Amino acid sequence: MSSSTTPVALKAAILIVSTTAAQDPATDSADVTLRQVFDEQQAQWEVHESKIVPDDVVQIQKQIIHWTNQATAANGDNNTNTINLIVTTGGTGFAVSDQTPEAVSALLHKNAPGLVHGMLAASLQVTPFAMMSRPVAGVRNGTVIITLPGSPKGAKENLQAVIKMLPHACMQAAGANSRALHKGGVKKLEQEAGVEGGGGRGHGHGQGHGHGHKHHDHGEHRGGEGGCGAHGHGHKHGHAGLVRHTTPSENPKSNDPSLGPSRRHRESPYPMLSVSEALSQIAQHTPIPQIVTSKVDSSLIGAVLAQDVLARENVPAFRASIVDGYAVVVPQDGNMRGVFPVVSVSHAAPGDGENMPTLKEGEIARITTGAPLPPGATSVIMVEDTVLVSTTTSKTEDAEDGKGVEEEKEVEILAADKVREGENVREVGSDIKQGQLILGKGDQVSAVGGEIGLLAAVGVGEVQVYRRPVVGVLSTGDEIVDHDRPGDLRLGEVRDTNRPTLISAARDWGYEVIDLGVARDKAGTLEETLRQALRQVDVVITTGGVSMGELDLLKPTIERSLGGTIHFGRVAMKPGKPTTFATVPVKDNDGERVSKVIFSLPGNPASALVTFHLFVLPSLHQMSGVSPPGLPKVPVTLGHDFSLDRSRPEYHRAIVSVSRDGVLTAVSTGGQRSSRVGSMKGANALLCMPCGPEPLRKGAKVEALLMGGLRSDV
Ligand code: AMP
Ligand code: MG
Repeated sequence: MSSSTTPVALKAAILIVSTTAAQDPATDSADVTLRQVFDEQQAQWEVHESKIVPDDVVQIQKQIIHWTNQATAANGDNNTNTINLIVTTGGTGFAVSDQTPEAVSALLHKNAPGLVHGMLAASLQVTPFAMMSRPVAGVRNGTVIITLPGSPKGAKENLQAVIKMLPHACMQAAGANSRALHKGGVKKLEQEAGVEGGGGRGHGHGQGHGHGHKHHDHGEHRGGEGGCGAHGHGHKHGHAGLVRHTTPSENPKSNDPSLGPSRRHRESPYPMLSVSEALSQIAQHTPIPQIVTSKVDSSLIGAVLAQDVLARENVPAFRASIVDGYAVVVPQDGNMRGVFPVVSVSHAAPGDGENMPTLKEGEIARITTGAPLPPGATSVIMVEDTVLVSTTTSKTEDAEDGKGVEEEKEVEILAADKVREGENVREVGSDIKQGQLILGKGDQVSAVGGEIGLLAAVGVGEVQVYRRPVVGVLSTGDEIVDHDRPGDLRLGEVRDTNRPTLISAARDWGYEVIDLGVARDKAGTLEETLRQALRQVDVVITTGGVSMGELDLLKPTIERSLGGTIHFGRVAMKPGKPTTFATVPVKDNDGERVSKVIFSLPGNPASALVTFHLFVLPSLHQMSGVSPPGLPKVPVTLGHDFSLDRSRPEYHRAIVSVSRDGVLTAVSTGGQRSSRVGSMKGANALLCMPCGPEPLRKGAKVEALLMGGLRSDV
C-alpha cells in the first residue's frame, strides 16, 4: 500500500499494564489481539517485543524509557534500532490503580491530541462508556506512544481507529524529511494510508444488508444508517444517573434484577448497532454447520448437500425403447418397408429381455415404451407407422375362457423414407452417465422435486447434508395466556400471538420446531425454562422481556445466570429496536462444549415477525448451509407515497405484486405500529425504507426483502 514511504516494516512494541497479567501472563489476551491488528496491515508493522508490567507508574515509565532510548535517530531514514511505536494497554480507566496515562504523559516530548480524539470518536460510536477511557498520545524521542484501554475489544477498536495514520506519524517522529513526505498534498497521503477524507464518506442507509452480509468486516460499516440523525448512543440523554465501576466489556451490561426497579438502567447500555452490523455479528457468532447423513425421501426437502453427489448408475441402465412399437434391425439401405414376422415380445418388466433371442434382419419384435431392446436390434418403429397383417391364436394360461389369446403374426411397416439406426432408442447412460456429477456440495434440495428425482434415478439412497437446527419458541410475560384459552380476557391479559406465529413461520422455512410454552416474568422460572430449552434445541427464540421494564429479564438471565454473551441488544431499526442476539456455552450429550443461540425478539407481534425474518432466518440458514442466507432481495416501485421514520430505517410490511409487463409494485399493509399484528396480514415483503424527514413518493424505487411468493396483478 504505502511501500513507497515505508520500505522497511515499522517496529512496534506492546506494553501490557495489568497487575493480574503481571502475576499470571496466561490471563492476558490483549497481546494476541493487538498483534493481529498489526498483522492485518500488510507487513507494514513488525511487533518487536511485548512486555507485561503491573499498574505501577515507575515500572511503566522504566519500560517506556528503555524502549524510547534505544535510538535517537534524526538521520532521515528509519533507523533500524528505533522502536517506532509503543502501544500500552490497560490502566486508562477511573479506578484508583489506573495510572497509565499519567505515567506516559509525564514522559512525552510532544502531545498528539488528534490521535486521542480519533480513538475516542471511534469508540464512542460503539459505546458511551468510551468516555470512561482517558487515553493520551504523543512522541518521545523518535517514538510515537499511545495508550489503549485494557479490554482486548476496546484496545483493538482504538488501535484500528488510528492505525492507518500511524505510519505517517512514526516516519515523521523518526526524523523523515517532512517536506518530502507531504509532497503531493493530503489527498496523496490519504491514498497512501488507504483512508478516505472527510466529506467523501457518506455511508448510504443500511439497505445493503440481507445477502452477502456474511463477510462484512467489522469496523468499516459502522453507522451504516448514515443520514438517520437522531438515534445513536445517547448523545441526547446523558448517563449521569448510571453508577458503574467497571467497563461494560468486562461485565454483563444487563440489570441485576435483585436490585429492584429503581436500580435498573434508565437507558439501554447496549450499543445501538446498524442492521448490517447486527447481521455481521450473527454471521460471526452463529455456530458452523454440522454434517449428517440423510435418507433420500421427502425429509430431504430444504436440506443443503454437504457433498458432491456422483451418479451410481447409468440412466437408462439398458438400451430402451422410447415408444410402443417394433424393434427392428435396419438394413444398410435403411429401407424398412414391407411385411415382417413378429418373432418376440419385450415388455418394460424386469427380466423380460433376458432370454430374448437375437433379432435378425427381416424379423421384428413387439416392444413397449421403456422396455429393453432385444439383442441385435438397432431401431424401433412406432406402432403408428405399422398395420397388422395376420394373427395366430395361442393357448396361454392368461386365457380364462379357454379360447386362447390372439397374437400378432405379421406386421407391415409403412416407413416411407429411410430409417436410421438408433431411432426411438435411449442408449445406455444417455440421460445420466455413471460417475457423472449430478448435484454439487451446497445445492439445496427443493420441494419442486428435481433434485430428489435425480438422486432417486441413479440409485443414491443416502446423502451427506448440513444438519438443520432444531428451533424452540418461547413466549414470556405474566400477562400472556394461550391463544386458544376459552372465555373472555381479564384486565391486562394478552393472547399469545407470537408463539403460534413464529412456530408456523419457522416450520414453513423447513425447521423442526419445539413449542416451549410461556414463561412467567420470574428470574428463576425463566432461567430454568431456558436451561431446559437449551438441552433440547439449537436455537431458542423468545419474545417479550427485552424492553426497559424491571420485569424484562431476558438479558440479565442470559448474561448473569446462563453465562451467555450478548452480541447485540439494540438495533437501529423500526420495528425491532430491542432485538437481542446471544450465544450460550452448553455441554452437548457427548460432554462437548458447544455454542447455542438465543434470539430474544421484542414482544410486539409485528416486531417479532419482522425480526424473525430479518435476523433469525439468516442464522438458521447459515447453520443449515443455505447460501446466501436470509430473504431474497429485489428492487420494487412504490405504488403510493410512503412516510418515513425520521431517525430509524424502517422495515415496512407490504404487498408486492407483479404486473403483466413485469413491474414489481409495493403497497403498504396499512398502519405500521409494532403492536399491530394486522400489518403482517397479506404481507409478502419487507420494504427497506431509509429514514428521513420527507415521505418517499409514489414511483420511487426501494429494495424489498421477499418473505413470500409474489402476487400477480394479471
Ligand atoms: P415486553 O417487551 O415483554 O414488555 O412486551 C412488549 C409488548 O408486547 C407488551 O405489550 C406485551 O404484552 C406484548 N407481548 C409480549 N409477548 C407477546 C405475545 N407472545 N403475544 C402478544 N403480545 C405480546
Ligand atoms: Mg413482557
